[in-house]
Amino acid sequence: MRTPDAGQIRVYHRCGGCGKKREFVNTGKFRVNANGKNVDVWLIYRCVKCKHSWNLTIYERTRPGRIPAELFDAFQANDVEAAMAYGRRIDFLKKNHAELR
Ligand SMILES: [Zn+2]
Repeated sequence: MRTPDAGQIRVYHRCGGCGKKREFVNTGKFRVNANGKNVDVWLIYRCVKCKHSWNLTIYERTRPGRIPAELFDAFQANDVEAAMAYGRRIDFLKKNHAELR
C-alpha cells in the first residue's frame, strides 16, 4: 500500500542548528501565522541530525480569501496528505532554495 509520504523529494539545506548542510525531512506539519489582514503559511521541515526546524514558505502575506478554502482548512488542520503533496513538488522546494538530490 502507498503511504502518504511516498515520493518525497530528498532535500538538503544548511542547518542553523548543526551548522552543516544536512538532509531535512518533511514533518507533515504547517505553521499558519496571522499578520494583520494577511497570513503567512509555512511547511515545517526538520534536520535529520539535530531536529532543528526549517520553515518553507507556501504563502507569504496573503489574504486568506485568496487561498482556496479547502487548502486553508488543510493547513490549519495539519493535514498530512496536503503536507506530503508539497514535499513532492519541485517548484515549491526550489522556490525555498532547497538543494535537491
Ligand atoms: Zn541540524
